[in-house]
Amino acid sequence: MQRAQANGATGVIVFDSLATNTLTNFGGTDTVGIRIPAIFISGADGFKLRAAILAGGTLNASARLGPDFDGSFDNGVVSHEFGHGISNRLTGGPANSSCLNSAAGNQTMGEGWSDFFALWMTTRPGDDGKASRYVATYDNNDPYTVGPGFRRKPYSTDFSKNNYTYSQLGTTTGKFQETHDVGEVWATVLWDLNWQFIYKYGYNADFFSNSGGNNSMLKLVLDGCKLQVCNPGFLDGRDALLRADSLTNRAANADLIWNVFARRGMGFSAVQGDRVNGAARVTGIQEGFDLPPQAKVIVLSNKKAATSGNALEAYPNPAQDLLTVRTQLNSAAPMQVAVLDLVGKTVLRAVPVSAAKMQQTGVELNTSRLTSGVYVVRVTTSEGIFTTKVIIQH
Ligand SMILES: [Zn+2]
Repeated sequence: MQRAQANGATGVIVFDSLATNTLTNFGGTDTVGIRIPAIFISGADGFKLRAAILAGGTLNASARLGPDFDGSFDNGVVSHEFGHGISNRLTGGPANSSCLNSAAGNQTMGEGWSDFFALWMTTRPGDDGKASRYVATYDNNDPYTVGPGFRRKPYSTDFSKNNYTYSQLGTTTGKFQETHDVGEVWATVLWDLNWQFIYKYGYNADFFSNSGGNNSMLKLVLDGCKLQVCNPGFLDGRDALLRADSLTNRAANADLIWNVFARRGMGFSAVQGDRVNGAARVTGIQEGFDLPPQAKVIVLSNKKAATSGNALEAYPNPAQDLLTVRTQLNSAAPMQVAVLDLVGKTVLRAVPVSAAKMQQTGVELNTSRLTSGVYVVRVTTSEGIFTTKVIIQH
């Protein structure tokens, strides 16, 4: 590299000395003073390029300089990886951390839970289940709403975008048995259920709240992991969710869970298939789109969810001289933040704040000159007006 740079090269293409597609690691530690880009390619490609150049051809190469799209900066990737720790630790009981064997051909859902956590953590108020969602768009340098990210299909409750059903698993051509592929199908049905919970109970941007369909769904998934057997298959996972719902919610969502799973071929008469050395396999699966006799048919909702609960935070409450207003809501235009007294008169107004700042740090208001009493904090966004009450106490 240094010699090439010293001789005027603007970039370097290094190729493997073996004319194969195998790439042996290439690296160097003496990088001081190197200012030109380099790329390492296989010998199979490299020898072809060299032959073409020696035969008089011209090789055009361009280097795109830009940020390093590292997965450590992708919220979805971080949530996904952290999620592995959760699903591995919870499945199969407290003394067992190796109950999700991800060998090819196993019906392992670990990648699915992790994708679910990634999608769940990065949901924004006002999102819609029918929209396409992707995992690792930042890491992959893809547009957030276009993908494709790291998966084969977008996650969506819309069958025209994602039509996976249980029989997508298998060993024949076009079927899934690799662990990330298998997980994609599992995450698809969890995502469907998440949205049905949101449509039923609303979306709550406060992840610490015990209200909101998204929060109830996360609890159900975590409880299901604790309840399920070691090396579960999809139907074991489904049954664990039903049991979790029965224990926590007196089976208030049993019909909903059955309807969601039946839509993806994991209904009452579905058969989980083979179990080899304790692990559920992708072979022998039979789909079933029916409900158990006691379950009611539910017309699955696809309406836009209401945002509920603590979408708008104002703290501390009571506040003295300083009040912080923060929200996870979105807005195309800067948000207007105002404090009103109880007769509706504006007594304080902040400089308009971007949605990003409101979501991250929020805005601080100096309330030292307000008389003690109850006030209304009003945030105006492009998606609507949101209010919450706050007490000022001196
Ligand atoms: Zn993973």
